Amino acid sequence: MLNQLSRRDFLARSAGAALGAGLLAGLPRGAFAARTGEAADFFEWTEISRGVFVALNRTGGNLELAGGNSILFVDDAGSLIVDVKQALLGNTLKRELTGRTPKLGWIVNTHHHFDHAGGNPCFGGTIPFTMHANCEKRLLESGASNVTGLDKRIEALRASGLPGAEAAATDAGELLTSLPTLPQDAWAPKGRTTSITAQTSLKAAGRTLTLHSFGPGHTDNDIVVHDADANIVLGGDVLFNGLHVFFDVAGGAKSAGWLHSLAEIKKLCNAKTIVVPGHGPVGDVTMIDRLAEYFEKTIAAVKQAIKDGKPREEVAKMILPEYKDFALGVAQPYLWGGIYDELVPPTTDSAQKEGAK
Ligand SMILES: [Zn+2]
Repeated sequence: MLNQLSRRDFLARSAGAALGAGLLAGLPRGAFAARTGEAADFFEWTEISRGVFVALNRTGGNLELAGGNSILFVDDAGSLIVDVKQALLGNTLKRELTGRTPKLGWIVNTHHHFDHAGGNPCFGGTIPFTMHANCEKRLLESGASNVTGLDKRIEALRASGLPGAEAAATDAGELLTSLPTLPQDAWAPKGRTTSITAQTSLKAAGRTLTLHSFGPGHTDNDIVVHDADANIVLGGDVLFNGLHVFFDVAGGAKSAGWLHSLAEIKKLCNAKTIVVPGHGPVGDVTMIDRLAEYFEKTIAAVKQAIKDGKPREEVAKMILPEYKDFALGVAQPYLWGGIYDELVPPTTDSAQKEGAK
């Protein structure tokens, strides 16, 4: 649809220009359409396996415009997508899906975070959602927080100058307009949401996917998706590739649990497995080893810092030199501070004040 509109728009603008007409005459029709399509895509789409596409953001470490990786399993009878970006980008994802699949049949959320499930309300109709029970609970309780400051984010998106940003900002404007009529359960619609707490098999998009719940790690509601036949593992945000992890204590993050989940994900993999993280480029099983090492080194460094008598605020600012070039540096203090609190539970002033109430 957009390709057609863009083409018509372009042709209309070029109608009176002999030079433009000459250029068009020399350009193969297919090549023109392909170029127009590329220019319109906000996300970077890559086919990682036959009929399986990943939509990466081009937004780098900009948290305001962040969107976790979305993975589309295409099937003519109905496709499935895992994670739908933040609310700001949901409509754009939906629009870019329409050129890749005739019909979307299923949505899976890997966890409740804004940049993975925030776009849920953009997918109306009868499309069913599958998510962890704690994800559903959190989205029902505080789903509306996903659209806080949406107007400011739209301005930032428009100002970003990224490919397709202008069209994406227009898409997001439609969501902004519809906010007053959004139901409270828009992020986990009642009657359309299936919640799980343990390993579940999902037959969808012409495949059998296994949804794993390995317990609290990145959050208390992580789902890892395994397509055994295609040898693909989608780790959600249990896997970050080449950037600092977001350690969300309020969301249920646990460092020991995270390491446990990494070990469990690794059991699903062999040397040829295509491993898709929640953020960062697609890779292989070595991504899991690198992340486990990142955690182990960080935990060891925090332990040593505590031994050396360093206060929490100092520990939270520490960084290991080998990870100084990682993106998403803003997330780094949450990990160090969070691990500090796991090792030295806050039993001092604040806890005593709580107890005195
Ligand atoms: Zn997350």
